[in-house]
Amino acid sequence: MIVMKFGGTSVGDAKAMRLVLKIVEKHADRQPLVVLSACAGMTNNLLKLAQLSAEAKKTDADELLLKIYTHHKTVCEELIEDEVFKNSALQKVENLYLALKQYSEGLALLKECTPRSLDTAASFGERLSTEIFTQAALAKGISAEWLDARKVMRTDSNFTSAEFDMPEVEVLSKEHITPQLLKGKVVITQGFIGATAKGITTTLGRGGSDLSAAIYGAALDAEEIQIWTDVSGVFSADPRKVPNAHVIPQMSYLEARDLSFYGAKVLHPDTVRPAIDKNIPVRVLNTFDSEHPGTAIVSEPDPNDFGISAVTLKENCSLYRCNTGESASRIPRDEREKIYAQLRSEGAYLMVLDASLSKYFPAENQTAASLLCASGPNLLKPRSADVIQKAFSAISQHDPLAFMFGTSAVSLLAVLKPENGQAAMSEVHKLTEE
Ligand code: ADP
Ligand code: ASP
Ligand code: MG
Repeated sequence: MIVMKFGGTSVGDAKAMRLVLKIVEKHADRQPLVVLSACAGMTNNLLKLAQLSAEAKKTDADELLLKIYTHHKTVCEELIEDEVFKNSALQKVENLYLALKQYSEGLALLKECTPRSLDTAASFGERLSTEIFTQAALAKGISAEWLDARKVMRTDSNFTSAEFDMPEVEVLSKEHITPQLLKGKVVITQGFIGATAKGITTTLGRGGSDLSAAIYGAALDAEEIQIWTDVSGVFSADPRKVPNAHVIPQMSYLEARDLSFYGAKVLHPDTVRPAIDKNIPVRVLNTFDSEHPGTAIVSEPDPNDFGISAVTLKENCSLYRCNTGESASRIPRDEREKIYAQLRSEGAYLMVLDASLSKYFPAENQTAASLLCASGPNLLKPRSADVIQKAFSAISQHDPLAFMFGTSAVSLLAVLKPENGQAAMSEVHKLTEE
């Protein structure tokens, strides 16, 4: 079997969903589990709706609710020609809209918007997109089966950033998904959302549909986990910031993990975690250019590549320096994932944090910063010494605040003043073309 995950832009409107239908149809004989995101922008709308409702801003909330409803209704009307399936899709949208309206009114009464209520509100996005897509697939003659991810994606109750329970997800996937795949069904489910053992809706965190796909892939021993998005793979730099960036045909799990952690939005940073355990290849593909081979993310780095393959820049960071026994323990446990790098030596300590954590430390020990990550498959090997030297020298032209190298075998980190980040990134990117 394979897992095929389609992101928000890929299911953003009827035109995009039509392309997705074609791609799924083409792979229908590979026992696909199709994992969908919400239509682009909807998760933001739903979170905003929850907030407006809890603040009792009824006019604004109603306006947003209508916008959400109208968008999905339009998708049904434009996507599905067959009257029976179109009406069925419209009915499902209507039911979800009514449930969301009721939920929004409930929040207005309670005047409370907890992480738990945010997760329930956000879940409507993926539930809507998958219901519509399933009816469209059936109308196209695909033997589609809609599955509520909350039956399978068991998580803890850390709302808005829940942790999955792999052994449970494995058991539940084999119970609810495998029999359908064996019957020849194309199973369609939601990314991003899950539920606790008590059935309370949770989410895996923003951008979490990639992670859902990888979890299901690992649970079902997939041949491949496909991440279909709006670019043709993992690029040598963010294509929006570096226009001449190019697609990297193959990279290792470690490189993908570092790049996504240090800012390549194309993958949720935890995506490769479940894939590594089962050694399942992850392929990043473009819905809008489906013949492009994309990027294959595999276990082993290319043994003959001694270059730098990609560069990322994480902005809005804070560099904290001190020479006492200070440490990250001041930061609450659930925020520690926003500590991006640490370095300690005798009598000196340096930490790069998300700017939102700077409140935990004295301002006089901090500097605003951007964190650059240059990655390559074999950076610690002797034959990479030449390119590392070039990278150090390129970055040194931009007045760096610190370098960190060696903690990861595939990346070199540099801390820069915010105003120097972009220029240093462009300079390092030139090395990816050598
Ligand atoms: P989806 O909705 O399909 O999950 P995302 O918007 O989350 O898509 O991720 C895809 C986007 O990631 C691309 O449109 C691109 O702008 C951005 N991106 C940032 N860095 C990179 C990179 N190194 N390679 C590819 N895309 C990147
Ligand atoms: N819809 C969710 C989000 O926007 C999850 C995802 O798209 O991956 O964060
Ligand atoms: Mg994404």
